[in-house]
Amino acid sequence: MCGLEIHQRLATAHKLFCSCPATLANESDKLLAEVSRYQRAVAGELGSVDRSAEFEEAKNRRFNYKVRDKHTCLVEIDEEPPHNINSEALKIALAMGTAMKMKFVDELQPMRKEVVDGSDPSAFQRTTLVGIDGTIEVDGHKINMPTLFLEEESSGIVSASEDGIIYDTDRLGIPLLEIDTDAYIPNAAAAKSIALYIGTLLRVSGAVQRGIGSIRQDVNVSIKGGARVEIKGLQEVDKLDKFVDNEITRQLKLLEIKDELVKAGASVDAPIDLTEMLKKSTVRIVINQLERGGVAVGFRLKNFKGFLGKEVNPDRRLGSEISDYAKMAKVNGLIHSDENLAVYGFTEKEHEELKKKFSLGPHDAFVIIAGKKTDVEKAVALAMERAKYALVGIPLETRAVANTELCTTRFMRPLPGGSRMYPETDARPILITKEMVELAKKSAPDIEKEKKHLLSKVDNRSIAEQLLLSPRLNLFKTIISSTKADSGFVANILVQKFTELKRSGFEIDSIDEQRILHLFEAYGKGEITKQAVDELLKEMSLKKDSVANLIKVKRLQRITGKDLEHLVSQVKKEQKDSSDKNELRNLVMAKYRLTVDGAELNSVISSEK
Ligand SMILES: [Zn+2]
Repeated sequence: MCGLEIHQRLATAHKLFCSCPATLANESDKLLAEVSRYQRAVAGELGSVDRSAEFEEAKNRRFNYKVRDKHTCLVEIDEEPPHNINSEALKIALAMGTAMKMKFVDELQPMRKEVVDGSDPSAFQRTTLVGIDGTIEVDGHKINMPTLFLEEESSGIVSASEDGIIYDTDRLGIPLLEIDTDAYIPNAAAAKSIALYIGTLLRVSGAVQRGIGSIRQDVNVSIKGGARVEIKGLQEVDKLDKFVDNEITRQLKLLEIKDELVKAGASVDAPIDLTEMLKKSTVRIVINQLERGGVAVGFRLKNFKGFLGKEVNPDRRLGSEISDYAKMAKVNGLIHSDENLAVYGFTEKEHEELKKKFSLGPHDAFVIIAGKKTDVEKAVALAMERAKYALVGIPLETRAVANTELCTTRFMRPLPGGSRMYPETDARPILITKEMVELAKKSAPDIEKEKKHLLSKVDNRSIAEQLLLSPRLNLFKTIISSTKADSGFVANILVQKFTELKRSGFEIDSIDEQRILHLFEAYGKGEITKQAVDELLKEMSLKKDSVANLIKVKRLQRITGKDLEHLVSQVKKEQKDSSDKNELRNLVMAKYRLTVDGAELNSVISSEK
């Protein structure tokens, strides 16, 4: 079974609780300050400290926040109370809630949700429950939509190192909708269709941001006998089903391993200090740590031989699962005996010595971790905890994407419980009035209505449906309302041509929407031909130049009017059979295909004597 949480950034003018713009900063926006913080977990309104918050606090990292001119004020860095909630964002939330047949709460009460991974300088994210108990219908199935929240976006990560994490605060506080399904979606394919449907509904609302990272899906997966695991931050809905299927496989494999380990009577032994013994070693990754005053510690895994190297997902083994935990304590990873130790540079003799030191039996395995003493102590404890859990089952985890191509994930932190929330006493509650609900009914997005509208514009059912699902739906609307380009042609390019070019290897998604708009402006003004539009798209995916510049450099200005007449009479002179109009047309097109419009050429030729 799975459940979805969809996070979508809204395209409002301002942030949710202050008047900073809800847009990302450019590199040219002046850096005003850098703020440093450490964070600690506090008890939620139920009186207990959340385990995921505690886990993050234990990492004891320093967080630095970049503050850019006009993009961040005192509200984001928690030096000033929040202003009134953004009414534009609230209107969008109510419209979306209406489209999902939700009931609205009478009074909104902003809450603080603890976030101790540093992505919020205040160590909490403001989140407000807006709607409950809705339903949507996808492919004839009714899906329950238990909750809709209006939230603040977190800070974007700039870099992470041993010293801490640097965040940019421009993104922080942009309004975000969190839309949740219940946890009873039966399979991966259904989860994907539902995510696509909600994504479409959001785009049809016309009030959401576009581009990379503006929509993110979290998916909860649980299987019989397994555990609930949350995969965070999937950006490509196309791969959602693959991620879910891989998570199912991972849990099944881990359960298989568990049964076999239990049957084999496996166990995890106490750690042993290997520092003295490995001082003479030539293994670079160990020696590098020891030379800097670090330590090496290992532990024996009784009857684990062969299990650490067992694949649980493509390119992921039980060993990688254990290594993920160790890495949370700032070490680079671990070495285990199911790997080819010769690759690390261990000699045969060292290997024998290690076996002796661990009193290794024929079915045993071992793990070695090297690094700073305090880090290694924590890393060994975490790795042992995870190794022991291999005999119990699947840990409840929040996981992040490990590899986008293989659709695999890695451990991020324990799954949060319900102790993360407490009321935001600095923000006023907001009454939901009858007028607000009435207004929402009028502005609620309607996919069927949108489909009909698109069909009237492009006159091709398949293209209209593809456009509806396309991330460029709003771009399409902008182009047809602000340029003279005809809607059928624009839709064709945005849907079919883009797919075709992408398949041929052009990085078409890297072209920003502003440039695509400029391209159609040029076409709409008659400056370029349809064929030149194709050609320019290829160029735009390779170069960052302006459209106007590319037209000039590639000599793609359309030849029209008197110039075309002149061109035709020139070609005609070179023609052998001067009465054959078809041949004349072909001769012109062969040479000037990209710059001459076929229809205009026909009319020039037919008026030729
Ligand atoms: Zn602000």
